[in-house]
Amino acid sequence: EKFKDGLSKTRDSFAGKVNDLVARYRKVDEDFFDELEEILIGADVGVNTVMELIDELKLEVKRRNIQDTKEVKSVISEKLVEIYESGGNASSELNFQTDGLTVILVVGVNGVGKTTTIGKLANKFKLEGKNVLLAAGDTFRAGAIEQLEVWGERVGVDVIKQSSGSDPAAVMYDAIQAAKARKVDVLLCDTAGRLQNKVNLMKELEKVKRVIEREIPDAPHEVLLVLDATTGQNALSQAKIFSEATNVTGIALTKLDGTAKGGIVLAIRNELNIPVKFVGLGEKVDDLQPFNAEQYVYGLFA
Ligand code: GDP
Repeated sequence: EKFKDGLSKTRDSFAGKVNDLVARYRKVDEDFFDELEEILIGADVGVNTVMELIDELKLEVKRRNIQDTKEVKSVISEKLVEIYESGGNASSELNFQTDGLTVILVVGVNGVGKTTTIGKLANKFKLEGKNVLLAAGDTFRAGAIEQLEVWGERVGVDVIKQSSGSDPAAVMYDAIQAAKARKVDVLLCDTAGRLQNKVNLMKELEKVKRVIEREIPDAPHEVLLVLDATTGQNALSQAKIFSEATNVTGIALTKLDGTAKGGIVLAIRNELNIPVKFVGLGEKVDDLQPFNAEQYVYGLFA
């Protein structure tokens, strides 16, 4: 239900347009596909993904000898799920360690909802009975540490911090020692999100990762990239930059509730082959959902 509600803006625009198209066209022809293509591109599905989808649709329509546009609608849903799930690595499961500490590095540009997502994740893990700790690794942005502390208090989770401007790698070192000493299950690490200087960003992330790896050989177990769905194709280019800087294992796509362009989920998945693991559907603590392609596509049409 939450998924459905959160997608209402995209649904109203996307499904509304598709329904209108199906009502206007009785027969499946080139014009029908041209208009469908425009609708999909308008929903930020991404040009490459749209082309692939349209090609697949045409083949399927031919194969099943579909004449009626109404029938095409269900094929669109099927193909959207198929495209999302193709290529493997589509699972939204996190790589939790069954024995010992799981370290999750959270990266992303300022303002995308990184702190909020960390707070929501901390709450979710806590509710699952896990012992959670936060690391205030964004020592660069003014107020970032305090903001994380506010979330820590709200969900009842401790925050390991140093003063503003200190070395984020040192914060990570402290946090890992604390996590080991306190038998923590999940350590969620905030990082600085300045994209103005790509070289600095990469260096900082590499250093932070190095420190984590030195303390726990196969950590970080997840590198979650937080992207703001309302920024559309910008989110896609951020994803490209971050995946060059570090090994991103999953995406948390925030503010899906605030955009009619929810198709960006498919563009990210298809063009970068990084699974969307969570979607943010509001500002409240429980407004974060594990991503599920079928629920998502159903949410777009139902
Ligand atoms: P950060 O700079 O990346 O840490 O961003 P914040 O966590 O401070 O979030 C920026 C703003 O986005 C805040 O006002 C959040 O409440 C809001 N926000 C975060 N996630 C979501 C979401 O999924 N939906 C909506 N509607 N707002 C969100």
